[in-house]
Amino acid sequence: ADEVALDPWGSSTIADYRKLFEEFGIEEFDDVLDEVPNPHYLMRRGVIFGHRDYRPVLEAMRDGDDFAVLSGFMPTGDPHIGHKLVFDEIIWHQQQGGDAYGLIADMEAHSARGISWDEINEHSRDYLLSLIALGFDTDEGELYRQSDNDRLQRLAFELGGKANFSEFQAIYGFDGETNVSHMQSVVTQMADILYPQLDDPMPTVIPVGPDQDPHVRFARDLSERMRFFKVTEAFASFELDDTERPLVAAAYDARDEYAEDADVPRCGEAAEWLADANLDAEGILVADSVRDSAVKKLENAGMEPLRPRIRFFARQATDEAFEALIEDIDGEKRRYDQHIDAFEMSVDAAEDLAREVEAHHGGYGFIPPSSTYHRFMTGLTGGKMSSSIPASHISLLDDPEDGYDKVKSATTGGRDTAEEQRELGGEADKCPVYELYAYLLTGDDDEFAKKVYDECVGGERLCGGCKEEAATLMREFLEDHQEKREEAEELLDSLDIDLET
Ligand code: SF4
Repeated sequence: ADEVALDPWGSSTIADYRKLFEEFGIEEFDDVLDEVPNPHYLMRRGVIFGHRDYRPVLEAMRDGDDFAVLSGFMPTGDPHIGHKLVFDEIIWHQQQGGDAYGLIADMEAHSARGISWDEINEHSRDYLLSLIALGFDTDEGELYRQSDNDRLQRLAFELGGKANFSEFQAIYGFDGETNVSHMQSVVTQMADILYPQLDDPMPTVIPVGPDQDPHVRFARDLSERMRFFKVTEAFASFELDDTERPLVAAAYDARDEYAEDADVPRCGEAAEWLADANLDAEGILVADSVRDSAVKKLENAGMEPLRPRIRFFARQATDEAFEALIEDIDGEKRRYDQHIDAFEMSVDAAEDLAREVEAHHGGYGFIPPSSTYHRFMTGLTGGKMSSSIPASHISLLDDPEDGYDKVKSATTGGRDTAEEQRELGGEADKCPVYELYAYLLTGDDDEFAKKVYDECVGGERLCGGCKEEAATLMREFLEDHQEKREEAEELLDSLDIDLET
């Protein structure tokens, strides 16, 4: 497919992951892999292939600071081995010291997919049991369902005050036929994403499939709008010194305008604010898209473009944009290089300050949430793994014998004859059975995964035996998992989660 569409409720497969990097600004996970302390095998094997702004989470993880992980599950069917990827990611982050949240998106399931409440209750229980059985620590983490969480609903209501219908149209393609509850479920989802930060702002990662990226981007936007709202309220009474006050105010002013209308930035006002404040800021950081107009505005405001003083808190802005700007100002590059460090420090300092102001005044101080993206599993019958096609997936509730049988009858990347296979090798990269090994069956054992791969492509491994081995491992996994699910029943019942209404 030429077009990459990201639709949280669609059935599109993501044909070309590369495009996600180019068109949507999702970053390659490989770029941060080296910085991850004990990366999970899904990270090492490229199953988690992308991220958005994951570094703050990593830094917190390394420095022993607070961070959180949250993901949600729409209870439209049985949890299957594709969902296990997300369960694993939540649990791994929890084990690295993160505050962990698993939520049941029951409002979304009901309003966007029309699932009955009875069905929702049944499936919700199954998701939570599997999450616990796989290692979620309920003493440390929080599990909730959307419809049953008052604090979440209040936050959703406030976020709704910062979103409007045109955005829903633009982001999700909503139209005059879209039911209002579906819109309510979207703001609820935005609230889910920011929920871990309600008490304390902290870096938060949302592990999701790439189709959920629109939600992440929207939540990042809203997190900034909530900050701006509270900061301006707070300024009236907060004691900032003469340098801090206009700096933070102008930064937010500029940021808010940028967020509201990225195509037609109006940064002049912020520049004037800073000029009035006679502030000697050292740098300028703007997104590429607004660079030219920022320089023009500075000139119009009577400011020397070589001493630009406006700063944008646009998260989209990059070091490269900053460098590019400086290079634009021909011949002066060297003179300004020395300012870069000072500039970056002052941006951090101003952000911290802004957060403090908000926290002090009961504001939110949200840090824009980060995300990681994992590949979708291929269906066992080829094509997409889908909850609605039983043969395409293995449910975590499947009878272990059925799981065995499904693997045995899966499509493979094998050649037509054993002879050909020995000669050419199998196509492990196109083989759903190999995926089962890499995503699940070999667990943390990279050697084992590599052995299967090498033997396959080297022609030493034939599909019959390979599937037999995989099917046996799958049967064992299901037996073990289901035993743990049974053990988790009592624990789940002891938690204060209403799964019956
Ligand atoms: Fe797939 Fe195994 Fe056959 Fe290779 S040998 S194509 S991994 S089933």
